[in-house]
Amino acid sequence: MTIFNLGSINADHVYSVPHLPLPGETLAATGFSIGLGGKGTNQSVAAARAGSDVFHIGAVGPDGVWAREKLAELGVNVDGVSQIQTPTGHAIINVDANAENAIVLFPGANVSLSESEISRALEAGKAGDTLLLQNETSHQAFAAELAQKKGIRVVYSAAPFSIEAVRAVLPFVSMLAMNEGEAAQLCAALGTNIENLPVPETLVTLGSKGAQWHGNGSNLNVESFSVVPVDTTGAGDTFAGYFAAARDQGADVAQALKLASAAAAIKVTRAGAAEAIPARAEVDVFLS
Ligand code: ATP
Repeated sequence: MTIFNLGSINADHVYSVPHLPLPGETLAATGFSIGLGGKGTNQSVAAARAGSDVFHIGAVGPDGVWAREKLAELGVNVDGVSQIQTPTGHAIINVDANAENAIVLFPGANVSLSESEISRALEAGKAGDTLLLQNETSHQAFAAELAQKKGIRVVYSAAPFSIEAVRAVLPFVSMLAMNEGEAAQLCAALGTNIENLPVPETLVTLGSKGAQWHGNGSNLNVESFSVVPVDTTGAGDTFAGYFAAARDQGADVAQALKLASAAAAIKVTRAGAAEAIPARAEVDVFLS
């Protein structure tokens, strides 16, 4: 089966800082790097490194040729990634001494695809395939509705959180993935709890406390592995991409949770986003 992903492609500008900057403060960074990131990219790379066939739908500008090439090097099919004139999306990521981060995002090319380009990219999609969506592109609801009509399973990460986006996409979603903060915001906005959200399955990641899946009237929990965190950027995406890939490959929910938790634990021990996501073989060694 194929995992499609309508997702962002960003150049991550990462600064190591002693603490996250306060309003009006000028802070000297102690380190700097540029890496490949974006929630969409991270999830595509995670699913590909977990062993699934991943077809990424997105766009980069003239400054993003390297990002498209890197995505391909990491095992993702980039035939659906357009090269356009709008600048590539990028993120300014500050990471403090406790591995906490604060991020400023410039969407750029990520919000430039049209509905007809998305339809064309999803033409080969068939029942049993998966479509990953997040909130860093445009036309998520359009893509979700089209996918659902084709019998494609829609896995939606409600991040960065926007209640308007969630409301529009939710009717077409098979599984909704959130972190603890996003789950709290959504439940407050809809006046309900996780178990009663109008969606077949939910996945809530809880940082170092693990993750919880809910579906078919039951809950399954997984604990986090005990590691020393270096950089949590992309931990949630690693979890979501690995979980979707494991399910795509026939794993049951408990197996998928364990694999995703291990992959995310390895990720947080490494600096960077997409390029820091472990391959399936590394995860298997970690679990053995
Ligand atoms: P980010 O926005 O930084 O990508 P997130 O807020 O979306 O992350 P989290 O809930 O913080 O996602 O983390 C996702 C998963 O990563 C967790 O469910 C857990 O499996 C793993 N993880 C995160 N932090 C740690 C940690 N300190 N130790 C072990 N595993 C961790």
